[in-house]
Amino acid sequence: MEDFEKMEVFTFQGLQNDMAIFLEKYAVETHVLCPNKQFPKHTLTDRDKRTCRFCGTKNDSKKFKTKSHVIPHLLGNRYLISDVECDSCNSFFGKYENDLAFFLGIHRTMQGIKGKENVPKFNSPNDSVTAKVNNDFYGVKSTEIEMKDPLNKGFSVDMNSGIAQFKYTKQSYTPLHVYKVLLKIALSFINENDVSNYKLAYNFLVTSTLNEKIAPSAKVLYYRLSSNYKAERPFIYLFRKKDPKEKIPTHSFAIYFENILFTFHIPLLSKDIENGLDKGSSDIYYCPPMLGQIPFEGSYERRMIDLSSEIILKNEQEVLSFAMDPQSLKNIKAYNPITEELSDRTFSADGIVKIVLTEHSSQLRIPIKKTL
Ligand SMILES: [Zn+2]
Repeated sequence: MEDFEKMEVFTFQGLQNDMAIFLEKYAVETHVLCPNKQFPKHTLTDRDKRTCRFCGTKNDSKKFKTKSHVIPHLLGNRYLISDVECDSCNSFFGKYENDLAFFLGIHRTMQGIKGKENVPKFNSPNDSVTAKVNNDFYGVKSTEIEMKDPLNKGFSVDMNSGIAQFKYTKQSYTPLHVYKVLLKIALSFINENDVSNYKLAYNFLVTSTLNEKIAPSAKVLYYRLSSNYKAERPFIYLFRKKDPKEKIPTHSFAIYFENILFTFHIPLLSKDIENGLDKGSSDIYYCPPMLGQIPFEGSYERRMIDLSSEIILKNEQEVLSFAMDPQSLKNIKAYNPITEELSDRTFSADGIVKIVLTEHSSQLRIPIKKTL
């Protein structure tokens, strides 16, 4: 993509070097932004001429009736439809999407990503933490997070640094299923002429057992960017190595949705296996978050996630951090919603039962009777 070569990209401080190295090794092969309501259509192969990349079914319009999403609907893609996936593969992969939803935990509710109808509610096992959207919190759309037992201290604030932490438990999921959903997305964007060389990868997706060739590769680098870097619609980058002879994986992939980015290399290309790259020993390069402008504030959290386990993961905890201005924490006032009175009672994070999140710029219309 020549246009891309000319485009300037930026990343967070401390990652510029990683990005320079990555872009020395890899070039963008495909970049796709999910279409929106105004431009929902993209060209699809006729139903009776389609071939399913995953199971090989072809030329049978009866087997390509459903609209399968290239990027799951649950990540916010409504209009990007696949013409390389048959109905039975679509329903097969659909089962893994629950694992992805549980892996993402509270994020979809917090970011307000609409499912088929509304933004999904979130609940921890035993409803210890629940989250839902409230369209009218003093006139403003918000996400409400409730904690059943405040003594669990799910929410804590360091008043000096302003760092708040929120801890909750996810529903059970199988890590390998999450990996399969992500790899499936990547393999849907592969160029037609590379498909036959990824036979083993497509095969891995539709067979249920873990292949020892794939175990070392089933890792993703996860970034959670601060919310001012939220993507309006999901988008992907498929990268290809510049030097075909270099002993690094041919393709690297990145998917962005809301403020989350997953990036990983695509395993099991026949040429890469011939080069011995399936042993988990080759160098892996990951592209840091690519931003359209120099980041002036905010940052990111990142971690490598091993998704190779086929064993169901129960009670996984996630801790989310938020940075608040410590000065504004000191100037905080207390409001009693029943008496509608405002007071200077000192803020304490102990015993918090509910957190309400609103957009940065929103103005709450709070009725105030009197100030104590
Ligand atoms: Zn199929």
